[in-house]
Amino acid sequence: MKKILIAGNWKMNTILPEAINLSKSIVEGIKGTDLKVQILICPPFVNLIPVYDIIKGSPIKLGAQNCHYADKGAYTGEISVPMLANVPCSHIIIGHSERRKYFSEIDDILNKKLKAVLNANITPVFCIGETLEDRQNGYAFKIIEWQLKEGLKEISNEDIEKIVIAYEPIWAIGTGIAATTEQIAEAHSFIRNILLKMIGKQAKNMLILYGGSVDATNSQSILEIPDVNGALIGGASLKANTFLSIINTAQNLV
Ligand code: PEP
Repeated sequence: MKKILIAGNWKMNTILPEAINLSKSIVEGIKGTDLKVQILICPPFVNLIPVYDIIKGSPIKLGAQNCHYADKGAYTGEISVPMLANVPCSHIIIGHSERRKYFSEIDDILNKKLKAVLNANITPVFCIGETLEDRQNGYAFKIIEWQLKEGLKEISNEDIEKIVIAYEPIWAIGTGIAATTEQIAEAHSFIRNILLKMIGKQAKNMLILYGGSVDATNSQSILEIPDVNGALIGGASLKANTFLSIINTAQNLV
């Protein structure tokens, strides 16, 4: 049976009352459903604990959008993995393209973050993906391979298997223009093959999500692609009805 994870990345959206309403609506929306897919929501840091209080007891998992790699110390403004583990968060997004672009998060830093997250038994959602320029210049697959190899450097096969990979072509994020199903299928099979070469057949169990303008209208055709194990959703995860509709589509595919 295909494993599917539907993840919502709320980014820097929702003040507390909005986060409460949104999470309550999602909990209500799945009540009584025999859930066959995993659901993850990733609110901003300050809303993690209040959202946890709402979703606890439901099958919805809680994730953070970023972390520091050190356990504690003089890193003003940062949030550590032990702090997030204590919320508790089950997942942490690492290497989102907005972190890479606006906060200069280079491969080496992301590799340290992945190790810190795995060390705490939290599941990293590791984002990779090329720019439009990379794709137009024919470098998309070189970039994807580089990001995977550098990000996963010196991590044991056993730990790599626990990582959720999110393929997010940067040109498709927040643009309303998702990659085509052919582009997604090609990239996901390329990623799966790299992982198979890295860790062997266990890579078949790894979840590879697609992210980039997923919404209620395109989710079915994307989630149907064989090597797609779910979606990382930005804008559309902020509307409870749309997010629930994507969950419903996913439910019908497993
Ligand atoms: C994202 O933030 O990871 C994302 C894919 O955003 P959107 O769904 O809005 O394109």
